[in-house]
Amino acid sequence: MIDLAPQKSAEDKLRQDLQESKTKYALTSEVISDGIWSWDLSSDRLEYSTRWKSMVGYGEQEIKNNPVEWLVRVHPADIEKLKRHLTECWQGKIDRFEVEYSLLHRDGQYRLMRCKCIAVTDLAGEVIHLIGAQTDLTQDRQIKARLNYQVDHDRLTKLPNRQLFIEKLQKLSELEQQANYDFGILCLDLDRFKNINHNFGDDIGDRILVEIARQLESCLRPQDILARLGGDEFAILLTSFVGQERPAEIASQIQQQLSTPIKIANYSILVSTSIGIATADTNCLPPNSVNALLQCLQNAELAMHQAKAMGKARNQVFESRLYLQTLEKTRSEDDLRKALEQEQFLLYYQPLVQLIDQQVIGFEALIRWQHPMRGLISPGDFIPLAEATGLIIPIGWWVLRSACEQMVQWQQNSAAQSLFISVNITGKQFSQPYAGDIIAQILTETGLNPKCLKLEITESEIIENIALVLPTVERLKSLGVQLSMDDFGTGYSSLSYLHCLPVDTLKIDRSFIQGMESDRHQLELVKTIIKLAEVFELDLIAEGIETPTQCAKLLELQCKYGQGYLFSQPVNSAIAATLLH
Ligand code: C2E
Ligand code: MG
Ligand code: MG
Repeated sequence: MIDLAPQKSAEDKLRQDLQESKTKYALTSEVISDGIWSWDLSSDRLEYSTRWKSMVGYGEQEIKNNPVEWLVRVHPADIEKLKRHLTECWQGKIDRFEVEYSLLHRDGQYRLMRCKCIAVTDLAGEVIHLIGAQTDLTQDRQIKARLNYQVDHDRLTKLPNRQLFIEKLQKLSELEQQANYDFGILCLDLDRFKNINHNFGDDIGDRILVEIARQLESCLRPQDILARLGGDEFAILLTSFVGQERPAEIASQIQQQLSTPIKIANYSILVSTSIGIATADTNCLPPNSVNALLQCLQNAELAMHQAKAMGKARNQVFESRLYLQTLEKTRSEDDLRKALEQEQFLLYYQPLVQLIDQQVIGFEALIRWQHPMRGLISPGDFIPLAEATGLIIPIGWWVLRSACEQMVQWQQNSAAQSLFISVNITGKQFSQPYAGDIIAQILTETGLNPKCLKLEITESEIIENIALVLPTVERLKSLGVQLSMDDFGTGYSSLSYLHCLPVDTLKIDRSFIQGMESDRHQLELVKTIIKLAEVFELDLIAEGIETPTQCAKLLELQCKYGQGYLFSQPVNSAIAATLLH
């Protein structure tokens, strides 16, 4: 008797293995999100997993096991590609492939699919089976597209942002590599938009930005590209236009369009813009390079800043002269910052004297900049820049502290004990909220008697900032600090403010003193100022006395004090110390 038992168990084992692997396959194809298919070539039977069927919107029983169910649903534009790959695999020319195609869903829409296929061979190497997996890329692509949109579009206005604008410039330069082409960039910035946000609230501010974006779009052609670069700044790329003046004309049209007030939530708000214009021919680079386009954008931004500086609500075409000026300005701005850090400033002192006997009554501290390359620079050449950049504030406090320290040092010598130090202060410093506290602290820390400090401020600066300046002035008066009105007579409303400002001294501007001998009118003005000082019981110092005749004339007019080259130029602290005696 032949024992069949082991043979039977081997067969069973094989059957069992097969069953297990089928179950595993079924389970796997259930859980993975890909649709699986398996094509038996000898029987032309193509089995689809449940997931595959649901990817096109059908249930388990609704799709038959044949290739037609798949191929009829492939988009006509993709079918040839898919068939070619399948045939090559079948013929053994390739052993696997991966393609993307669109597949028709039951809802009538195409879904984007990626299919990976592998050929299975028998022992003789003949292809007997194709198996594959299909992934639905639609959602993935949609999410990616949405993400991309969010990354490179502005959330508020839905316009391209700076990044996308730059990408578009790059694409354009690639497209136009061969041709010489014209392009222009407009850079727009809303004027005083901060004030609008401040006065009407951010919500209205946002709605204005959206409205402006729509109005800008209405001024442009479909091929023009509008972007929001950030904040209240927009850019427009103009291509294929006729005539060099076209970008400037469009800029004017935009300004015209925006000249009617925008109506939002019962408000009627007028928003003006400053526009900078740069075109291909204002560049120094070859016209069809990426850099040329990027430089053009930068130039348009520079021109926009220039338009702002020239009074806003206007447009300005970029000129390289402007560029050089700005370059120069930023360079010296950096220099100025460095000067503060590296302590390149120093003080000169000019004596203030009693005219009758030329006795020194005090000194005016005058700043100088010891520039490592440019030598000694006068305040007239850097104070305006320091004011414009706000650097005047730290510089100004440095001046005050150094001048006080110097005075305390001089006062250790008894000859200097009754002298005062005069320090120039700008309106910006004076109108800082804690100016009074800062000055009080400097006095305490240096140990200078407040009565020996005189602060010089010009009348126009006092008047422009009167509301902010008054509390500081009162605080200083209570400390005993003296105030001097500098360059008196050059401002506009000298008289009206004299009675409400507790100044101690007027300094007659040197232009009057120097014109006094030749110009009767100037002489009359000097006489009037002297009378005025008498009426208001103020001290009077005449600036810029250069000749003995001027000094004699001033004495004759009862002016007691003066300052000028006749007595001494501003000098360094060592020389000033010798003038004490
Ligand atoms: P200022 O306060 O009116 O100073 C007087 C200016 O007149 C000084 O010029 C001085 O050198 C000049 N000066 C004095 N006597 C004569 C003269 O007889 N003839 C001529 N031609 N000029 C004379 P400087 O030092 O160049 O200062 C110019 C201006 O810069 C100052 O005018 C002041 O407004 C400003 N300044 C100087 N130092 C400082 C400072 O530390 N802080 C601030 N904020 N401004 C300063
Ligand atoms: Mg002065
Ligand atoms: Mg002056």
